Amino acid sequence: MNPSPIRLNHFEPTRQAALARLEAFLPYAGAHYAKHRNTDYGSDERVGVSGLSPYLRYRVITEAEVIRAVLDSHPLQAAEKFIQEVVWRTYWKGWLQMRPSVWSDYVAERDREFEQLAINTDLKARYQQAIEGKTGIDGFDDWAKGLVETGYLHNHARMWFASIWIFTLRLPWTLGADFFLRHLLDGDPASNTLSWRWVAGIQTQGKTYLATQENIERFTQGRFAPKGLAQEAIAIESAPPPRPQALPSRVRPIDALHQPSVWLAHAQDIYIIDQVRGHPNCRGVIWYEPSQVGQAEQVREFSKAVMDDQRGPDEPVMDALDDDQVTDRVHSMGGQQLVVCEPPVGTSAWAMKDLANLGALPVFQCRRAYDDALWPAATKGFFPFKKQVLNERSLRKAIA
Ligand SMILES: Cc1cc2nc3c(=O)[nH]c(=O)nc-3n(C[C@H](O)[C@H](O)[C@H](O)COP(=O)(O)OP(=O)(O)OC[C@H]3O[C@@H](n4cnc5c(N)ncnc54)[C@H](O)[C@@H]3O)c2cc1C
Repeated sequence: MNPSPIRLNHFEPTRQAALARLEAFLPYAGAHYAKHRNTDYGSDERVGVSGLSPYLRYRVITEAEVIRAVLDSHPLQAAEKFIQEVVWRTYWKGWLQMRPSVWSDYVAERDREFEQLAINTDLKARYQQAIEGKTGIDGFDDWAKGLVETGYLHNHARMWFASIWIFTLRLPWTLGADFFLRHLLDGDPASNTLSWRWVAGIQTQGKTYLATQENIERFTQGRFAPKGLAQEAIAIESAPPPRPQALPSRVRPIDALHQPSVWLAHAQDIYIIDQVRGHPNCRGVIWYEPSQVGQAEQVREFSKAVMDDQRGPDEPVMDALDDDQVTDRVHSMGGQQLVVCEPPVGTSAWAMKDLANLGALPVFQCRRAYDDALWPAATKGFFPFKKQVLNERSLRKAIA
């Protein structure tokens, strides 16, 4: 069978497009995915992966929907590789949610590195060459340009790119993670930061990922064969990860609507709106769309468009959470409380911290059953997590 007909150079920003992509991918989610997933056929070629990540990132389509559809088409054993990748995303989310300081440490280190760039002209020049795809390294330059152009890179290309950035070009990993986060349509604080940490040997301490010419040549079908890559990858020294904090207990979205409420919708979980709109206690919806300073234009456009795709005509958008304005809106819509899906750790979780201080207005944070079932299992490494969750019983419970 040929690679699937999914193309990775265009992502239409609608739920309909996400559903169509899932539908097109389903026949390939079993043995085909397991065989082709590591090969990067190039973004305008037919590929072996699903291309669902920009949709999953904003929850235009949910992990539970994807897993359910796959399990309806294949036995778990046949589609295990694909489902394992979907739950990698869940694992990273749960892991970071229980260790928020890893995100704030990353942000602080990134900002220090940007300060260095401003005063170190050699570092600045090398950084600039890397992000503009002018290093002369075969493949690397194409991935840098391809990322900026399409907002997507194949998983294997992300691994090679990060490895070359850190171990061959000897650039700070936080600046590479920042470059990805600004340009990836699926740019996600958890998957991105923790994957870069993993390549650097910080996440699984001492265990790094080394990109080699042979591996790149093989899995790009000979398109790239970069010479002069680092021959060893010595882990970046770092403190061990913090111990996981217990997650605060949260009610389910529907249970949060126990009295007249206004729903605060945001780009971290767009399709939750389908569960709550139309509920007799949901008196209205406000959309929160903070300005995304520094994000590439196509990322800003994509996230805005996927929100607009689900936003009702009378539902207002706020770009900042001003206490008085939010309270006035909620009261004018007839709500007695504001309900929001707990934002995952990352930039908007910070902005939303202010919600805790909304004076007299009660704010209810809720959590999807899927996250509640799986996030707490991310206490250690991925393999114990996988052992606990990647079985018919746990998955069926999480996606019910
Ligand atoms: C350095 C680096 C940075 C990354 N940054 C991000 C990021 O910002 N956002 C992001 O969503 N993924 C990130 N990934 C993970 C992975 O590369 C992408 O999720 C995947 O390439 C998306 O393409 P796809 O939808 O075709 O994947 P498929 O192979 O079809 O997988 C299906 C889904 O599973 C999830 N998934 C697959 N692989 C991984 C993985 N290794 N880790 C976590 N989830 C995975 C994604 O949600 C994906 O849509 C990163 C990986 C690396 C090595």
